[in-house]
Amino acid sequence: MVTRCWFWVLSMCLPLQVNAERLASSFLKSVDDISHSHSQVIRYCVDPDWLPYEAIRDGKHVGISFDYIQYIQSNTQLKFDLIPTKSWSETLSLLQNRQCDLTPLLNKTDIRAQYLRFSEVYFRAPNVLVSLREQPFLQGFENIGARTLAVPKGYRLAEYIQHYYPEIQILSVESEPAGLEAVFERQADLFVGSMFSVNAYIQQTGFDHLKIAGWGGPEDELRVGVSLGNEVLLPVIDRVLTSVSELERIRIYQKWNNVTIIDEANYFLMYQIIAGTLFITLMLASRTYFISQYNRRLTYKNQQLEILRRQLEATNAELEFLSTHDPLTKLYNRHYFNRHFVDDHRASNYADSAMCLVMIDIDHFKEINDTKGHAIGDKILMELSVVLQRCVRDTDVVARWGGEEFVILCQESSLVLVQSLCHRIAGAIKDYEFSGNVRLTCSFGIAKLVDNESMQSCFERADRALYRAKALGRDQVCVDEVA
Ligand code: GH3
Ligand code: MG
Ligand code: MG
Repeated sequence: MVTRCWFWVLSMCLPLQVNAERLASSFLKSVDDISHSHSQVIRYCVDPDWLPYEAIRDGKHVGISFDYIQYIQSNTQLKFDLIPTKSWSETLSLLQNRQCDLTPLLNKTDIRAQYLRFSEVYFRAPNVLVSLREQPFLQGFENIGARTLAVPKGYRLAEYIQHYYPEIQILSVESEPAGLEAVFERQADLFVGSMFSVNAYIQQTGFDHLKIAGWGGPEDELRVGVSLGNEVLLPVIDRVLTSVSELERIRIYQKWNNVTIIDEANYFLMYQIIAGTLFITLMLASRTYFISQYNRRLTYKNQQLEILRRQLEATNAELEFLSTHDPLTKLYNRHYFNRHFVDDHRASNYADSAMCLVMIDIDHFKEINDTKGHAIGDKILMELSVVLQRCVRDTDVVARWGGEEFVILCQESSLVLVQSLCHRIAGAIKDYEFSGNVRLTCSFGIAKLVDNESMQSCFERADRALYRAKALGRDQVCVDEVA
């Protein structure tokens, strides 16, 4: 910011130095005489990238020198035609080869004097050194030492520095903007260029990290240069340029030192930034959109999976229950009983545990079914299951063996205890009023598992005891004693 202000003050204080004698205005008649003799179109070249002095934008000549060319054209018979070039060195080379007749704004140097002839100085501008902000201030070329200095190709200063400061490392760049970029990219320590163009470029790019590091040698004394064979033009041009009033000079200077071109460039940069930002925002937004869509789908799928998993668990639990329980009474079924106590376990497992089996069969159940109906019979089976479970201990296992037959496995029980359990159950059944006002009795067969006996054999003995209870007239508790 400070650099900018300093710069602005300098820009305003050091515009054009105008000779009083150039204010003469009564000479145009004689100029016309000479210009009439040069009826051919003058092919001219400019520096394509040296604003505000001159540049080529969209194939058109712009900048301070453009207005001076216009001025010359409108005050003489001379006609100018721009030969566009890509760089200042190309411009110089076209002049050297006489493919260009004239260039409107350049310094005079010994080398250029070999192939050009020059008008009087009509524009003066100081040169400045530019460095990165952290670099110290320098008092001209003397203090640069062996540092690298970027200089545009073909610039008068390159000749000057090589001649007077040979220790300075020169980095040739294509244009002034390229030189400033080189400093910014740290390919060069310093850049030397015309104050007005440097100012314009820094404003245009907003390169706040660049600063003016000092004055850069002799000021530019800019003139028109014509290639050999066109010297005849110089008196005409000198006279016209001398006639430019100071007001006109200031108008031209202010017009181009203003921000007209820079604004265009800024808009371009701004459009680029906006387009870039929009593109990135769009990319991010679409990415976020697709990710959120994907996440939504994923969440939905996960929910579906969770529902399925729960359904599966419930179905498995139901299947497990159905496979091990009787659906009517909800007691263990024969399958479960066999798997846990008959098939897998040998008698030896229970040898020390005093285990007894009780087989229970409802007396005359067929008759109940026949008289009260099958539905009542089902209800009675359910009610009897509840009575049985109420009477046994937690360690006893009750199962529906099939039809109207039940089995109880009593662990850690003596025959006496199991006998008394069966009598208690028989009493509870007799006391219970079943559905359909039915009163029931049951027959009981008991067997105690003996050493080395299989469960199957124990079952058979319990069944035998039950048969005996039936044979003895039913409503009996019989024990199968081992022979
Ligand atoms: P017993 O005193 O000799 O045991 O006579 P019972 O009539 O009980 O004997 P039986 O074996 O001849 O009859 C058993 C009856 O049990 C036959 C059948 O209708 C009935 N039954 C078997 N399972 C079911 C069932 O799930 N529901 C109903 N309601 N009745 C059943
Ligand atoms: Mg029966
Ligand atoms: Mg039966």
